[in-house]
Amino acid sequence: MSIPDQIHALEELAAIDADLRTLDETLTQERGVLSGLKANLKKLEEKRETSKTAVAASDRTRNDAITDVRTMMQQLEHSREKMGRARTERESNAVQRELEELRKLVRDREDEIGKLTTEGDAHRQTIESLDADIGKLKAELGSSEGDIHSKLGQAEGERTSRAQGRDAVVKKLPTVLYRRYETIRAKRGTAIAAVTVDGTCRACNMALAPQMFHRLRREPLLEQCPSCNRIIYFVPPVAAAKESS
Ligand SMILES: [Zn+2]
Repeated sequence: MSIPDQIHALEELAAIDADLRTLDETLTQERGVLSGLKANLKKLEEKRETSKTAVAASDRTRNDAITDVRTMMQQLEHSREKMGRARTERESNAVQRELEELRKLVRDREDEIGKLTTEGDAHRQTIESLDADIGKLKAELGSSEGDIHSKLGQAEGERTSRAQGRDAVVKKLPTVLYRRYETIRAKRGTAIAAVTVDGTCRACNMALAPQMFHRLRREPLLEQCPSCNRIIYFVPPVAAAKESS
């Protein structure tokens, strides 16, 4: 493979790698949007589940308290009857104390029922607003999921075909040169740079030593930039214009 062919293949490879990077960014971004929406939905659904468990527990406690009050009301009725049957002051005082105690117990239980009712209502309100949020998010997912999937599919398809094109270019390149390209690309993001007509590296803008620039201009040659280590080469403006026409 001649040096001009190597330069051409390297440029092709660099263009493909730039495209692949853009495609990967698109894929990451779109996947991120999708997984973000799904994670939010999951979080809301978990919150709703927690609230539902809490409301069920609070309702159960409230029902138990209501049953307790009913039982105590029967006991109160019973004590009142006992009061009617009391013969001595001592007896009636004892029943009076029993009645007061029961009334206090009923009041306490009723307070508790009131609190549990408020608590249950708050939970129900939370569930209602969570349902609204979940509905909104599901609608958003529904409208954007298809769009995102088609974008993902397109980008993935493009990525596959670009990767195949890359393999074909890589096969053409000398192995040593490709390894060097990959090593530099891993460190710098891009691995090649054309040298400008005034002798500077296009990637890092460092002016090359006159001797090196002279060598690059005299014949097709691959060098490495002393400053950024990228593979550098010089394409005369006329040749460049011919190539692009
Ligand atoms: Zn450089």
